[in-house]
Amino acid sequence: MRMEDMTDVYQPKEDEDLKLLPCPFCGSHDIVYMKYNHAAGERWAVVCMGCMADIDPGWAQQKHQVQDLWNRRM
Ligand SMILES: [Zn+2]
Repeated sequence: MRMEDMTDVYQPKEDEDLKLLPCPFCGSHDIVYMKYNHAAGERWAVVCMGCMADIDPGWAQQKHQVQDLWNRRM
């Protein structure tokens, strides 16, 4: 994902289903979903705003798909 392709940012609340676990690398709770334009359409990634660690499989068209990847890595 390139920052210039980013089209949307979504920051989940602590009490909602889409909440993201703290970053395993820097411990930050400032984790967001980022939507970007892929050649094949829009895709979602998860990015830590603390250290810029990300999960970006390149095929996630729904936020919960990257949420599963991020939260399972803990
Ligand atoms: Zn981090």
